[in-house]
Amino acid sequence: MSTIQSGAGKRIVVCGGAGYIGSHTVLELLSLDYDVVVVDDLSYGYRHNVEPGRLRELNVLDTDAVERVLREKPTEAVIHFAAFISVGESMHKPEMYFHNNTCGSLSLFTAMMRAGVKRLVFSSTAAVYGMPDKVPIVETMPYAPVNVYGESKVMVEKILGWMDLIHGLRSVCLRYFNASGADPEGRRGEEHKPETHLIPLLLEAVESGKPATIFGTDYPTPDGTCIRDYIHVTDLAQAHIFAVQHLLSGGASDKFNAGTGIGFSVKQVIDSVERVTGKKVPVTYGPRREGDPPELVASSEKLQKTLGWKPQFTKLDDIVRTAWNFEQKREKQLE
Ligand code: UDP
Repeated sequence: MSTIQSGAGKRIVVCGGAGYIGSHTVLELLSLDYDVVVVDDLSYGYRHNVEPGRLRELNVLDTDAVERVLREKPTEAVIHFAAFISVGESMHKPEMYFHNNTCGSLSLFTAMMRAGVKRLVFSSTAAVYGMPDKVPIVETMPYAPVNVYGESKVMVEKILGWMDLIHGLRSVCLRYFNASGADPEGRRGEEHKPETHLIPLLLEAVESGKPATIFGTDYPTPDGTCIRDYIHVTDLAQAHIFAVQHLLSGGASDKFNAGTGIGFSVKQVIDSVERVTGKKVPVTYGPRREGDPPELVASSEKLQKTLGWKPQFTKLDDIVRTAWNFEQKREKQLE
């Protein structure tokens, strides 16, 4: 078990730090006094998420340029978020996902080896488990991805196994469940374009009056809709801090589920959005979305016991409230 330490000016390079989870992690790193540099090509991330002096605008596929960033000053560790995340798109453009997610990671690891940086936290995903027949999901369950996105991450996890063995590159893979919510102070939030995630889509439906679609009501769950494990993005960001500190204190490579262990159905999420916004969510009922498992809930026992992490946001309404606050703040800024 560990507690969070000060970063004491240690330099961490965050690839994909202008995106949703990356930018929340940067906030946590800065609050602990780490020296943070962000590598991001801004293909999906936002310039407004990064202080200008910290941004190196480039793609991780550019091995030489990443190596130069790592060599600017002694770098203690890398946190790697930079990836494409759309499951549906990955099934239409597999080459794009393997190129960006798998080859991009390999390019980054090559740059790290050249620059002598041997600590990495990697954004992995629950999609590595595919359609598990048991919940909660534990880390010992086999790789069984059912889409290219999940496979692109499995490949990176496997590469990391060999990089550890051969080069001593120590890594922590965090397998994210459903990242959600926004910074409690409203400084960052979810701004995917196009948006595909449930909570922001429901909030958009409340605001626009245009109905959101519920994908399937005939699942073998108590209310017929899919159950997911919604982890607040700040809790998830904290998991990265624990992971970095584990590695910096000499910890071994490992893989952890990052979820809360609590599942909520799509209908329960809609109820929560209605409680928080005080408005009815307009919805329509559609067919199941291809590739959606009925229930995905993490066991986060390993993360809690090994690294000492604990989620602060365990009530769905509290998670939704932070997303709603961010959404309203954003609306005001656009007015
Ligand atoms: N979902 C839905 N309508 C939407 C978007 C999502 O019913 O417009 C459902 C989806 O089928 C899944 C859950 O909400 O059961 C969470 O989906 P999301 O895309 O947010 O995350 P995922 O579980 O795919 O990572």
